[in-house]
Amino acid sequence: MPDRKSYDVVIAGGAVMGSACAYWLTRLSGGRARVLVVEPDPGYARASTALSVASIRLQFSNPVNIEISRFGLEFIRNISAYLGPAGGPGDLGLRENGYLFLAGTESQAKNMRQNRDIQVSLGAETELLDRAALAARFPYLALGDVRLGSFGPRHEGWFDNMGLLGGLRRAARAAGADYLQDSVTGIDAADGRVTGVLLASGRRVTAGHVVNAAGTHGAGIARMAGLDIPVEPRKRTVFLIDAPRAKHPDAPLLVDHTGFYLRPEGDHWICATVPEDDPAVDHDDFEPRHWEFEDEIWPRLYARAPEFDAVKVLRMWAGHYSFNRFDANAIVGPHPDRPNFHFANGFSGHGLQQAPAVGRGVAEAILYGEFRSLDLSELSIGRILANRPFREKAIV
Ligand SMILES: Cc1cc2nc3c(=O)[nH]c(=O)nc-3n(C[C@H](O)[C@H](O)[C@H](O)COP(=O)(O)OP(=O)(O)OC[C@H]3O[C@@H](n4cnc5c(N)ncnc54)[C@H](O)[C@@H]3O)c2cc1C
Repeated sequence: MPDRKSYDVVIAGGAVMGSACAYWLTRLSGGRARVLVVEPDPGYARASTALSVASIRLQFSNPVNIEISRFGLEFIRNISAYLGPAGGPGDLGLRENGYLFLAGTESQAKNMRQNRDIQVSLGAETELLDRAALAARFPYLALGDVRLGSFGPRHEGWFDNMGLLGGLRRAARAAGADYLQDSVTGIDAADGRVTGVLLASGRRVTAGHVVNAAGTHGAGIARMAGLDIPVEPRKRTVFLIDAPRAKHPDAPLLVDHTGFYLRPEGDHWICATVPEDDPAVDHDDFEPRHWEFEDEIWPRLYARAPEFDAVKVLRMWAGHYSFNRFDANAIVGPHPDRPNFHFANGFSGHGLQQAPAVGRGVAEAILYGEFRSLDLSELSIGRILANRPFREKAIV
């Protein structure tokens, strides 16, 4: 068990975001930064990272989100080169089947056209497909209500979420980061700066910087430092289904305008919906909303693809988005009133793919006092303090 009493950086939360921060801090400092990652559950049973659908796309509306995912993709493709032998197995099983968004209204189609121009200018290969082109490419879809499709045939898909977390964690530890099984229960501060953390075990650790990477518990950690962030747990239930007549392992991840998403998982399919009634939930409420499949997903799925007439739910699970109710975008970087307290919070449904770029950005802000590789300042807490939402139109 690490027994130092003082660290350059203490990170609250050791799932994908905390581990990405630890990896980049050790790498960019050449192992000189002393880093402690505090994580209560090394099994990550309730971490969003473990319960994720683990997909990555360039089809966002904001350039910064596109750039963040572009780096995520580069990192995932070249994980061995980034993490080295300490990172372990070098293949995250990336399947670049693409994403297919369907628009049902003219205003959705207009958004798609605008987004496509931005995406393509940043290296995406997004194609806009009218109904006939969609029917030719995806003959199993019923498209009567569809106005336009936006398809990314490359640079989008899904990968091994726990492989990414495990690799980052191993590489961070090999470079000197300490992982401690404990919880942050308090934050010490003096003269406008945080000075250390109090742990559930009763230990006190002094810190030059504190990073909040506690996922759905991020608002609680911020409160310990006297700060507020509009982040809360929102439940998402994911279904693994078998559809014996629908076998399309090369299908893209379909984001349907009627309110569900679907992607192949080997020989089966994964699907989920954004519930119309979407309240904040209790941190301990991981009970799947089993009715969502029968009541909300299946009728729409069958209407979209009649091959889904016979379907069996093989497994379901509930995970929590750490949802930023202000504008559903991430909150990244230091707080102006506590310049050595850093956020990596509020990733809603797209944090896994953002971890490589956000971890790098947080490490740069700590080590150099600025974002260097990619400017993440549009995601800073400043926009919330100024009441200026930074909206992302392509939220799933
Ligand atoms: C159903 C679902 C589908 C998703 N699909 C995708 C997807 O397709 N693509 C994508 O990019 N993203 C997706 N996401 C989002 C993504 O999984 C998350 O944004 C990302 O994993 C967040 O990582 P994190 O490390 O910030 O949080 P988490 O993984 O939640 O980890 C937070 C960690 O903090 C720890 N912690 C909590 N309290 C404390 C404390 N007091 N002290 C210390 N540690 C503490 C927890 O134990 C936990 O391990 C999905 C999420 C869900 C739930």
